[in-house]
Amino acid sequence: MRRTASQILTSGPADLRTAIDRGNVNVFYQPKVELATGRLVGFEALARWQHPTRGPIDPDHFIPLAEASALIASLTDEVLLQSVGDCASWAIAGHNLTVAVNMSPLLFMHERLLSSLVQVLARYRLPAANLTLEVTESAAMQDPLSTMGTLSRLRLRGFNLALDDFGTGYSNLAILHRMPFNELKIDRSFVTDVKDSRDSQVIVRAIAALAQQMGLITVAEGVEDLSSWDWLRSAGIEQIQGFGIARPMPADAVVEWIAAYRPPSFALTS
Ligand code: C2E
Ligand code: MG
Ligand code: MG
Repeated sequence: MRRTASQILTSGPADLRTAIDRGNVNVFYQPKVELATGRLVGFEALARWQHPTRGPIDPDHFIPLAEASALIASLTDEVLLQSVGDCASWAIAGHNLTVAVNMSPLLFMHERLLSSLVQVLARYRLPAANLTLEVTESAAMQDPLSTMGTLSRLRLRGFNLALDDFGTGYSNLAILHRMPFNELKIDRSFVTDVKDSRDSQVIVRAIAALAQQMGLITVAEGVEDLSSWDWLRSAGIEQIQGFGIARPMPADAVVEWIAAYRPPSFALTS
């Protein structure tokens, strides 16, 4: 059972430090698929803290704790190491997929970000093109000039860059247009109810058109009901992620899930 914020208020930075050191921070993976074909594109890596007595703790609770206590760098190193290693093992099993890691804006101030990313890829011999770095819209807009510099260096090295949770962060579109993202993920608050809400439909269509004009791959997050597949595709969305395809799963379940995955029938017929 997942815990609420109040249940973990007593878990502090020292607990989290211990958890990282003891390997109790693990990565779960959620698949992303292409709407035109149903093909599996890759997985997003989502951190989980397996507390020995309190059970799994949500990232929404411990990421802010990690950011406030400077543990975010070690935590992200751990997530990167596990997810790049897992992505390399999927490739060895014959599945050439991407893995997407969420990056806190605080890491962009670290001098060693680029070199540690390059090191972990070299360790597992994974090309940078297989790794996507996700940055939330609000994080990207906090200090746009310095973020743009860091992102440009990462893009030049071949990493994919995704703008996460788009639609919630009040972007300056002129600045956004100059940022070197190649993927835009529409926030799930506009996607989950897109079949029933006219407002969400207008917003999703507008964001998809904007992203297309900017040459970005569009991903709809939080797709719970696959009956919205055709609507999303006709709105110009290229990829989806959400409980409708699969919930985030532990690393040891991924290869079996890939083997069992079949594109939904309407992905192939329409
Ligand atoms: P995110 O990057 O936007 O990740 C997607 C979140 O939406 C995940 O929550 C996922 O479980 C949830 N989700 C996916 N599909 C559906 C759906 O169909 N319906 C609903 N209701 N939810 C869905 P999760 O795993 O709890 O992660 C929450 C956030 O925590 C992430 O949002 C991300 O911003 C952050 N996060 C997770 N792992 C890391 C990490 O390693 N580093 C950093 N900096 N942030 C992380
Ligand atoms: Mg994300
Ligand atoms: Mg998101």
